[in-house]
Amino acid sequence: MSEAVSASRGVPGFWSPRIGALEPYVPGEQPRIAKLVKLNTNENPYPPSPRVIDAVQAAAANGLERYPDPESVTLREAIAARYGLASAQVFAGNGSDEVLAHAFFAFFQQAEPLLMPDISYSFYRVYAQLYGIDCELQPVDQGLRIDADALAARAAAGCAGIVLANPNAPTGIGMPLACIEKLLDACPRRVVLVDEAYVDFGGESAMPLIARYPNLLVVQTLSKSRSLAGLRVGFACGHAHLIEGLQRVKNSFNSYPLDRLATAGAIAAFEDEAWFIKTRDAVIDTREGLTLQLEDLGFEVLPSQANFVFVRHAAHDAARLAASLRERAVLVRHFNQPRIAQYLRISIGTRDQCAALVDALGDILGAAQ
Ligand code: PMP
Repeated sequence: MSEAVSASRGVPGFWSPRIGALEPYVPGEQPRIAKLVKLNTNENPYPPSPRVIDAVQAAAANGLERYPDPESVTLREAIAARYGLASAQVFAGNGSDEVLAHAFFAFFQQAEPLLMPDISYSFYRVYAQLYGIDCELQPVDQGLRIDADALAARAAAGCAGIVLANPNAPTGIGMPLACIEKLLDACPRRVVLVDEAYVDFGGESAMPLIARYPNLLVVQTLSKSRSLAGLRVGFACGHAHLIEGLQRVKNSFNSYPLDRLATAGAIAAFEDEAWFIKTRDAVIDTREGLTLQLEDLGFEVLPSQANFVFVRHAAHDAARLAASLRERAVLVRHFNQPRIAQYLRISIGTRDQCAALVDALGDILGAAQ
């Protein structure tokens, strides 16, 4: 029996039939290399607010023998207050990946296909496969922009819903709210999920549309703009009916997705708006500087509203560049996928980390001449 065939049947025979056919998401590597310049997983290069550390320590000192609040009420209240919503319009989960997974299960198992751009966060297709949801990929245009009119026209003909990231990943390109509204209007009876993992770095959030659109679900994370990738906190905002749908899935899966430390740290992060603004602005400022430096080195840099840039070089192969950078202890992300195989996704680091990247690229491009 060939390996592929035996894998799909589940070697050594214990797997449920669907497991062998899954193509799981491959996260960016987290290697232990000394003095690594790590620009491959869109983490924030700055630490979280000191108030977060204090809150986590206080939570650790008190009550770990007890289960946390299964409904994360205080955290949901803090998020609701931040966005001018009611807590019944907020769902919290163990990272936005988990929130997305629950949303796919809750809303997108329909007779028609789920629509998403062909270039987008690759986990969407994995969730769809996991839950047996049929996907239809809408091609982004030559500039890797989502064509909102084409997507809306297709959605109007019938779909299970729409999922997209805004700003998009891995391009970093943002979509104006007017386009999001077009999509919401095109399928009023299905959920439009807008994943705003990177919105704080310059995108336009759809939160203000929630009051008018019962079919809008906005998903955000504390992993990026609030420097808490290690704590695993994400959330969704939308009409209370949608939140109830997510709660039904959560309570059929894991009643306590957020532990006491994560809840306390996340609340503290929302209490320190000054830290949020300072670190976010530093990332945006560094992104603008790095963009100019990369352009000087001959890269085409897509306009980014995120904490990363998506770049390509007319004269240098992206996979080889990524490998050469790795030899110099600089990690960036390369996706060996159709349409984007010549691009590199570079997370915005500290100014020093970005300077090290530019130096390494200067060396590599210079040596190749
Ligand atoms: N959405 C997008 C577009 C992302 O890039 C990521 C991070 N890989 C996530 C969601 C998930 O983030 P987290 O689970 O850390 O909240």
